[in-house]
Parts: sequence; C-alpha cells; structure tokens
Amino acid sequence: MRRTRVILHLALALLAGCTAVTIPRPSPTPPSTTATTPAPSPTPLPSGDEADFAKQRERMVIETIERRGITDEQVLRAMRAVPRHLFVPEEQQDYAYGDYPLPIGYGQTISQPYIVALMTDLLELKEGDKVLEIGTGSGYQAAVLAEIPDIEVYTIEIVPELAEIARKRLESLGYTSAHCKQADGYYGWPEHAPFDAIIVTAAPDHIPGALVDQLANGGRMVIPIGPPGGYQTLWKFTRQPDGELQAFNMGGVAFVPLIGPGADAHPHEGGYEWPLP
Ligand code: SAH
Repeated sequence: MRRTRVILHLALALLAGCTAVTIPRPSPTPPSTTATTPAPSPTPLPSGDEADFAKQRERMVIETIERRGITDEQVLRAMRAVPRHLFVPEEQQDYAYGDYPLPIGYGQTISQPYIVALMTDLLELKEGDKVLEIGTGSGYQAAVLAEIPDIEVYTIEIVPELAEIARKRLESLGYTSAHCKQADGYYGWPEHAPFDAIIVTAAPDHIPGALVDQLANGGRMVIPIGPPGGYQTLWKFTRQPDGELQAFNMGGVAFVPLIGPGADAHPHEGGYEWPLP
C-alpha cells in the first residue's frame, strides 16, 4: 500500500464541488449506467444519411447531455462533432444516438453518451494536457477527447481485436492526436507519464497503483470502482501539488469489469483499497 494520503470528499454529481468526510454509499438505483446494463429495448431512430445522423446527434446533445447539466462548451462541441454511428457495428447504427450503451463485440460495450460527456467534463481538460484512457473499446471516448483542441490522447485496450479496429477507425477519421496501444492498461503507459488526466472506462474493484503514480501533480483521474458485474461508484480523484489525493463521489454507474493480469494480481501489484478500510 502506498503512502499517498487520500482525503475523501463527497461531491454531488454535477455540482462543482462540496466537501464532507463521510464515505458515501452508492445509490441503490444509479442515476446513470453504462456498459453492463442491457439496452432497454429502444425504439430505433429513423435510419438515414449523414444529415439524418447529424440531426439525431444534435438532439442527443440537447436532450440527454445539456438538459442533464453538462454546460462546458468544449465538451458539448466534442459531443456534437464525433459521428457516434461510425463507432458501433452497422446493425446498431440506428440506435447510435440513444442514451444507452451498445454492444461492440467481444463481450464489450460502448458507453452511453451521457456518461462519456460527464467523464470528459470531469477531466477538466485544458490546452496542452496529456490524457490517458484505459479501455479504448470502440474508440468513441478517445475521439471525443481528441476533439478537444491541443490535447494528446493515449489510449490502451486489452482485447487485441478491439484495439486494432479502434486504431484503424481513429486513424481513418483523422484523429491524429489519439495514440493507441494494445496492452493491459492496469499498468498505465509509463513512457508517456505523467498524465494531466486519466480516464478509466472499465471498472476495477480497487485503485490501480500505477495509475496514481502516473498522474501528474494537479492531475485529475475519473474511474468507476466497485464489484465486477454489479453497480460501481464513479470517483474523481485530484492530485494535489503535494501529492495528496482528494476523492469526489460522482454517483452510481455500471461498467464492464477491468480485466487482465494486473487487476487479477491485486493486492500484490500495490493497488489502493477503495473506499479506504
Ligand atoms: N471507452 C470505450 C468503452 C469502454 S468498454 C468506448 O468509448 O467505446 C471497456 C473497455 O475496456 C473494453 O473494450 C475492454 O476490453 C477494455 N478493458 C478491460 N480491461 C482492460 C485493461 N486491463 N486494459 C485495457 N483495456 C481494458
């Protein structure tokens, strides 16, 4: 167990900041979910050409993102820009702009748009930042990050087939600031550390120690933590200039589990128990 002190703060989702010292419980019915929750038999949106998809995307941004309190112009612009229908299998394209996760093969999912926007917002990205994503999946979240001006994105996917599809997709769509790697993201990407922001889009049941080590002072990490296959809590950690971590509870979510040797080897790899015992 590392020595970094962790201060627990309770923040209500979507509020800029408020503090408390109690360990919050995940809400019994999470307000927003991604990944493992099956799509609620959605009514397909009308299929059509790019103009139709653009209209659906605009509606998605207004109805499911702005209306739920995301106001950051950069985030909204990025969500408006990325063609989500090109990140899902063809037979799912008509559902691409609904606010639910969708299957992308290999037992994995693309997260729901609201969660992508929320997590991007929580990273508080600014010009010149380097951001690390664990769990490339379809590449959609990486593309949203890469839409933010003057950001370098490093993204790691453990499933070789998904990593290759996402890499080609991001390249063909011109996202040159997104750098892809196939590996176990539990260990981060030390060659490019430290990162100003880290986003984890699969859930471990503890904090991977390597990711904390690779977070810059002043950096932000957004990560779901909780039991595999159940609901987890979305946490935002900020690393203070003195190395201390502050933790903010952003509410209940449901992500696919972080898999691989790193997550399995815990606690031998030096991860942090969370919430603190
Ligand atoms: N961010 C993705 C969706 C994430 S789904 C998108 O925008 O589409 C979670 C992804 O994390 C899956 O693709 C899964 O294979 C990957 N994953 C799980 N464990 C991982 C690990 N240890 N390292 C890297 N990727 C991992």
